[in-house]
Amino acid sequence: MKLQLYNSLDRKKSDFNPIHPGKVGLYTCGPTVYNFAHIGNLRTYIFEDILKRVLLYNDFQVTHVMNITDVGHLTGDRDMGEDKMEKGALREGRTAWEIAEFYTRAFKSDIERLNIIAPDIWVKATDTIDDQIALIKILEDTGYSYRTGDGIYFDTSKFKDYTRLSHQDIESLREGARVEKNPEKRNATDFALWKFSPAGVRRQMEWDSPWGTGFPGWHIECSAMSMKYLDGLLDIHCGGTDHIDVHHTNEIAQSEAATGKKFFNYWMHGAFLIIAGGKKMAKSEDNFLTLENAFVKNDINPLVYRFAAFQTHYRKPMEYSEESVQAARNGLQHLQNPIRRVAQNSAGQKGAVIDKYKTKFLGAINDDLNMPRAMAAVQEMLKSNSADTDKHATILDYDRVLGLRLDKVDRPAELPQKITLLVAERQAARDAKDWAASDRLRDTIQDLGYLVQDTKELSLIHISEPTRQLTQSRMPD
Ligand code: AMP
Ligand code: ZN
Repeated sequence: MKLQLYNSLDRKKSDFNPIHPGKVGLYTCGPTVYNFAHIGNLRTYIFEDILKRVLLYNDFQVTHVMNITDVGHLTGDRDMGEDKMEKGALREGRTAWEIAEFYTRAFKSDIERLNIIAPDIWVKATDTIDDQIALIKILEDTGYSYRTGDGIYFDTSKFKDYTRLSHQDIESLREGARVEKNPEKRNATDFALWKFSPAGVRRQMEWDSPWGTGFPGWHIECSAMSMKYLDGLLDIHCGGTDHIDVHHTNEIAQSEAATGKKFFNYWMHGAFLIIAGGKKMAKSEDNFLTLENAFVKNDINPLVYRFAAFQTHYRKPMEYSEESVQAARNGLQHLQNPIRRVAQNSAGQKGAVIDKYKTKFLGAINDDLNMPRAMAAVQEMLKSNSADTDKHATILDYDRVLGLRLDKVDRPAELPQKITLLVAERQAARDAKDWAASDRLRDTIQDLGYLVQDTKELSLIHISEPTRQLTQSRMPD
C-alpha cells in the first residue's frame, strides 16, 4: 500500500513521491518562544511526529528541520504590532534572549514528554540572520522588493500565482489583509522582509543590514533555513492550518521569486485544537492550557494527550475537554492492559510480526495518516486469537509509529532496588506524616533520575539522561 498524503496545494490525497527516491526532507514550522507551547500547538507537533514516524515506517530516510522563532514574529501576523519576543521580555522582566532560551528549553521538554522524535536539525532564527539578509538581497536585485518608512517589503503583485496555496481569490485575500493600516504598502498582501528598528528605540534584538539596523520579517526565516538545510530535499513543509493564508503563502512567494524553482512539493496542515464553543486555543487569547497544567500537574501521563490526539484525524478539529482527557486516560489504560498481559505471557520469547495485521495497520496510516482507523486495527489485532508472542512482536512494531512507549508497559522488574528501597522509605515517612523527610527523599529519588507521582497507584517517571527521555514505570505491588 503506497503512502498517500493530502497536499494543501492541490487539496487532494495523492501518492507520495519524494524528489530523491528513498529520501525525504521535512520542514516543520517551529514555536515562537515567547511563552509556553499550549496543547493546541502540541497537537500540531504530534501530527508532524506521526507523519515523520510513518515516513520512517515506510523505510524513507528522513531529514527533519525545525526552526525556533526567536525574533521577528509580530503580534499581528501582517507585520504590525509588537515583536512577541520583546513583549514577552517586558511581561517577565527578563531579556528577550533569556526568555527565548527559557521557552526553547520548555518546548524541548514538552516534546520529549510526548515522545515526539526531535528534529535532526534545530535552527534558531537569530542564528541565520546572514542567510536571511542574503535572501532579501536576491529579492532586491531581482526587483521584488521595495522600501517604505518602516522596512523592506515584498511586492506580492509581482509574483504570479500568489494565492496558489490559500486558494483564495486575490481580492478577498487583499480585503482580509486591509485591516492593517499601512498606507505605504503597495498592495494589502505585501509583507515585510526586513523591518527597521523604530527611530530612537534600541531594540534588544537588532542587526545591521544593507538597508539599516533592524530585524527580519517573520516569514523569511523559514525560507532561508529550509533552503540552507534541505538543499535539494524540499519535499514536505508543515504547520497548523492558520499558516496557510499568510505565513506559508508568503514563504512560497519569496522563495520561488528568489530561486525561480518550486519551493516544496507537499504542504501539509494540522487542524486546530478547539475548546468548548468551537474557539481556537491561542497563546494571544490567554485561554491556553499547557502540558504541565493540564496533564503533569494533575498526575496525568502526558502520553495520554498523545493517545487522545490519535482519536481525531489530523485534518479535523479536535475538541478539548476534561471529559475527553478522562476518556483518553481510560483508553490508554485499556490499551496497555492487554499489552502487559501479552508481554508477560511472551516472557522474553521472540514472536513474529503478524502479516495480516501489519497490512491493516499500514493501510490505515498510509491513507493520509488515518490514526483513528489505525487504532481500530490495533484493537482488532489484540483481540484476535494469534499467539501472544506474535501479538507482542506486532504491537512493538506498531509502536514505531504510535510512540506510546508500549515496550515499557511491563517495567516493574526494571526498577533498581535502590530506588524501590528509597520509595518505601519515603512512604514510611509519609505514613508517619514526616513531610520534611518525605520531601528530602523525593529529592534524593529525583536526583537519581526518577520523579515520584503520588497518584492512587504510586508511580514513578524515569528521566534517563542525557536525553531526559521520560518513561513511565509502575511500582512493584
Ligand atoms: P506558534 O508558536 O504560535 O508559531 O505556533 C506553533 C504551531 O502551532 C504552528 O504550526 C501553528 O499553526 C500551530 N497552532 C497554533 N494554534 C493551534 C491550535 N489551536 N491547534 C493546533 N495547532 C495550532
Ligand atoms: Zn515557518
